[in-house]
Amino acid sequence: MIIVVKKNQDERQIDNLIRWIKSLGLDVYRSEGENSQIIGLIGDTSKVDIGLIRTLDIVESVTRVQEPYKNANRKFHPQDTVIDVAGHKFGGGHFQFIAGPCSVESEKQIIEVAMAVKKAGATVLRGGAFKPRTSPYSFQGLGLEGLKLLRRAKQETGLPIVTEIMSEEHIDDFYDVDIIQVGARNMQNFDLLKHLGRLKTPILLKRGIAATIEELLMSAEYIMSEGNPNVILCERGIRTYETYTRNTLDISAIPVLKERTHLPVIVDPSHASGISRLVKPLSLAAVGAGSDGLIIEVHNDPIHALCDGAQSLRPDQFADVVNSIDLMLPAVGKVRDK
Ligand code: PEP
Ligand code: MN
Repeated sequence: MIIVVKKNQDERQIDNLIRWIKSLGLDVYRSEGENSQIIGLIGDTSKVDIGLIRTLDIVESVTRVQEPYKNANRKFHPQDTVIDVAGHKFGGGHFQFIAGPCSVESEKQIIEVAMAVKKAGATVLRGGAFKPRTSPYSFQGLGLEGLKLLRRAKQETGLPIVTEIMSEEHIDDFYDVDIIQVGARNMQNFDLLKHLGRLKTPILLKRGIAATIEELLMSAEYIMSEGNPNVILCERGIRTYETYTRNTLDISAIPVLKERTHLPVIVDPSHASGISRLVKPLSLAAVGAGSDGLIIEVHNDPIHALCDGAQSLRPDQFADVVNSIDLMLPAVGKVRDK
């Protein structure tokens, strides 16, 4: 962290500032310029309140030179993290398709979709049991019954499952879920993140609707700093002024994340666009930008889906996306898990 002190300041105030910095266990480096004075902070500045320093009268500006996330930072862990989900690897050049309906609706629906997406190339089944809906009057998911049906689909197909947790109250019910999803709306539910950090289950952490890349990484840090290193990040579109699509897929977040962190990064083109015909082009773009996988909503009867039918692909459309991406993967140096 670098503090620029305004010109002609009272030396006593500067000394006070330096004493306070040193009391935080840090060292300082001072450099006298013609128009200002620079104080460099040496050591772990992650606990320093940058806003507090900024408010001091003698301070011109403060800049962080070190990211506030440590566990997720590629600087301290240059190799890609590879996360094993029932034998399927995320990160490190592996590519995975996660597919399934927005929500589990019935035994017949989830098993039919599971069989179809497996046949088309998915290695993990998605399906919401607890749904975070904008309106309290919309279908809220089948809850524990939905989890039971997901287990049945897993037994039937052998596909590991990913499903969203909304509250730490349900952690025990998620004991055999292969990947626990934290949805966009809960990305900054810090208590939930801390609880999930005490598990070893892989966590699929979706980017918040209005979250910066750094905020996403800080949420990953919450999970990792509690002891769970198995975090998969998901870019799922952010809210912008554009209204044509449900969200705006932030394509540049993919290479930025891959640069900043060693964690696997996947993309959700379904929630990013909200429109099924956009799912394929966004999927191709995500792969081109370096995504380690895709999570796609697939429904056997999208028109009658209880949730997110407009963005859901039919199984044959999903198979077409997989086939096109198979052609791209050699160009980006990735291998699809089968
Ligand atoms: C979902 O995956 O069904 C979902 C609700 O996603 P998000 O949290 O990204 O909106
Ligand atoms: Mn959905």
